[in-house]
Amino acid sequence: MSYTGRFAPTPTGPLHTGSLIAAVASYCDARAAGGKWLLRMEDIDPPREMPGAADLILRQLHAYGLEWDGEVLFQHQRTEAYLAALEQLQEQGDVFWCCCSRTDLARLGTTAYPGTCRPFTSPRDDAAIRLRVPDRVIRFNDRLFGPQAENLQNSIGDVVLRRRDGLFAYQLAVVVDDAFQNITDVVRGADLLDNTARQIFLQEKLGLATPRYLHLPLMLHADGTKLSKQTFAPALPLPAEPVLLWQTLMFLGQKIPADLQHATPDRILHWAIRNWTPGDIPRQHGMSSLPA
Ligand SMILES: [Zn+2]
Repeated sequence: MSYTGRFAPTPTGPLHTGSLIAAVASYCDARAAGGKWLLRMEDIDPPREMPGAADLILRQLHAYGLEWDGEVLFQHQRTEAYLAALEQLQEQGDVFWCCCSRTDLARLGTTAYPGTCRPFTSPRDDAAIRLRVPDRVIRFNDRLFGPQAENLQNSIGDVVLRRRDGLFAYQLAVVVDDAFQNITDVVRGADLLDNTARQIFLQEKLGLATPRYLHLPLMLHADGTKLSKQTFAPALPLPAEPVLLWQTLMFLGQKIPADLQHATPDRILHWAIRNWTPGDIPRQHGMSSLPA
């Protein structure tokens, strides 16, 4: 069975200890399966990006021993592929143009977009492109969280694929690129668990394969918020502090020996790949030992 995994950071800032969870888990899961581990820079939202962050992320991964296969895929170079996918969906009659403003949507008082603009099936100016979602339950089996079921029409409604400002939505880019990179296994944070059903539906519409999914527990601040760049999680230090790899593996429920705490990244990862046990990953989110 061939395996291709990936890590797909957003260059809005450097990697932090929380992002190391997805990096290490996706890396170990791929390497333990004898598979490839690809890197994709999800740089489709320039206003949110930090100059130099993409380079810094590559240096961080390298310093922590997380070596990727092949060339890095940069989403800012993938415009034609995203446009082609939108064109296919338009030809199939699966998308429409939505001019609803934020205020319009807020006034509806519902989190699920109710399909107001569905009649607008040809391009309009200053409009978002939405994917019409069905009134049926989408099911998948997460390797950690088990069977999942979601009726997109009830939960979020029609999914934005291209924003009003012309930027491509994450949902479109991630689906097109997971297929382009032949990803068989997506290993990522549980904050994206509820994005998966919409991605699977989009895969169906584009005639693309659905990968296996493994969502990971999140590292939280003491106040329960997710450790993220937005909540000022500290950057992964350079030069590398390998003990952070050791702590990440502990967080992932792996029974790594204490005497590896001060080993090199290569030795820690070598142990982690040989002993990788996804069944030991806890389902509950954990607290960061770092100051918030
Ligand atoms: Zn609308």
